[in-house]
Amino acid sequence: MDIHTNIPLKNYLTMKIGGNARFMTEVHSREELAAVCENAKSKNIPIFIIGGGSNVIARDEGYEGLVIRIRIPGFEIISEDDSSTTIRIGAGENWDSVVKRSVDMKLSGIEAMSGIPGTAGATPIQNVGAYGQEIADTLQSLEAYDLETKSFVTMQNSECGFSYRDSIFRSSSAGRYIITSITIVLSKYMPKPPFYDSLQRYLDEKQIKIFTPDIIRNTVLEIRKDKLPDPAVQPSAGSFFKNAIVDKWQAEQLKPSYPDMPMFEMADGRFKIPTGWLIEKTGLKGQLINGMRISPNNALVLINESAHSYDELAKARDEITIKIRDMFRIQIEQEPLEM
Ligand SMILES: Cc1cc2nc3c(=O)[nH]c(=O)nc-3n(C[C@H](O)[C@H](O)[C@H](O)COP(=O)(O)OP(=O)(O)OC[C@H]3O[C@@H](n4cnc5c(N)ncnc54)[C@H](O)[C@@H]3O)c2cc1C
Repeated sequence: MDIHTNIPLKNYLTMKIGGNARFMTEVHSREELAAVCENAKSKNIPIFIIGGGSNVIARDEGYEGLVIRIRIPGFEIISEDDSSTTIRIGAGENWDSVVKRSVDMKLSGIEAMSGIPGTAGATPIQNVGAYGQEIADTLQSLEAYDLETKSFVTMQNSECGFSYRDSIFRSSSAGRYIITSITIVLSKYMPKPPFYDSLQRYLDEKQIKIFTPDIIRNTVLEIRKDKLPDPAVQPSAGSFFKNAIVDKWQAEQLKPSYPDMPMFEMADGRFKIPTGWLIEKTGLKGQLINGMRISPNNALVLINESAHSYDELAKARDEITIKIRDMFRIQIEQEPLEM
């Protein structure tokens, strides 16, 4: 296994910003991962994990440690019955290829998460989701290397602390576990309507009345094409902000001033407000701030049009955040994690 030095992180992150990683390597198996981690730990070298680099932001000073790119393969059916198939997937597998494979097998459960860049092993980190499905819905368990105990562990879904775009891997246990595989349970039944709002609207418009995993996948890919930039062409980290979550009292306070503000009640009684709508109301949609374009097709997305530094990105982010705070008294949160 080769360890490279002083590698420009921007070549490995879809936002195409960031200084150098002091060390970088790729691992292709659990054994390689354990060996490289133990070696780094024994030398007190900090470790940062990346998969596809589509949800990470690096600073201009780079990373003074070892960046490990997870490339562990695997796609293995581990059990099957009349209604479901359980599959173990290596953390380094490309997520969209996994979705395609499952759809080709006529299985349902992750088809609405088509077209999301990155690796399978990263999906539990922020409980990746789209168009009404999230990984927490299908994930049975995962295997991970625990940097604290230097051993492999199996964690069940209930131990992952999943919530909206969050899990213990981003919060209480951030940086502790390196996921090596995920095990998901997919259904042999056809997907059933009603689907997520914008997906259902699109299906209605096109008068699509038969719902197979394949049809849902293709529809989602069609919708995403207009809303989300292809990272190979336009650098971005997808949605740069999480949707806003407010308490009931705050939602009630906002409603009279903004009767058209979309609000979705969550299971815990709080309300989700689309941050894209908030940004649009500030008049910033489509504008260019310090080389970062607020996507004219989807205000949640910041496209790196001509920014070269983290500083430029941070200034654009702060200008948007402050405008929203001043206008609505809502503090929005950045979605991509920082090294
Ligand atoms: C155009 C575009 C569209 C997107 N659309 C969506 C969407 O619809 N829904 C959505 O939820 N997200 C979306 N994203 C965000 C992103 O694709 C997902 O978060 C994805 O899961 C990140 O995968 P990755 O392999 O690139 O992770 P990385 O960006 O490499 O890493 C993300 C985080 O996970 C950690 N990590 C990665 N792999 C592992 C591992 N094996 N073990 C432990 N930690 C790990 C990293 O340390 C980092 O903190 C989009 C991004 C882009 C650029």
